[in-house]
Amino acid sequence: MNTELGELEELYQEVILDHSRRPRNFGELPDASVKVHGDNPSCGDEIHLAIKFDGNGGLEQIKFTGHGCAISQASASLMTMKLKGKKRAEVEEMLHAFHDLVTTENNHAPKNLGDLQVMRGVRKFPQRVKCAMLPWRAVEQALRQSEGESTVSTEEPEFG
Ligand code: ZN
Repeated sequence: MNTELGELEELYQEVILDHSRRPRNFGELPDASVKVHGDNPSCGDEIHLAIKFDGNGGLEQIKFTGHGCAISQASASLMTMKLKGKKRAEVEEMLHAFHDLVTTENNHAPKNLGDLQVMRGVRKFPQRVKCAMLPWRAVEQALRQSEGESTVSTEEPEFG
């Protein structure tokens, strides 16, 4: 675990380790509207994301379980903290902002990303980008469907 994190800036390691060891919003959501199973075969990460939408398509509740590397689990934990209670449009905005954060050089990360900015270090490592994006790919899929269960994989084409 320390080898992969050694690649990241030291300042960010603490936050990532803290979230991977004590993930927030970790657990089952019995009355979920949507469940998405996210798979990152290149690293062996799995995320089971459960979302309960409110009447307007906002994220009333969001929880996850899963296992895998520290980056994937910390990214999911940080993401759920950020997205819980957000309106649908805010979630979509955050999704694109985070994608830019971990894939684009020289971008100006929006301040509203908050703690999520600790993930920016992964942009130098394409394999780690998949780990960080995994929970977000699951959210993206959850927004496409309003109910039911589905699976998404990082090996599928990315959203535009
Ligand atoms: Zn991973």
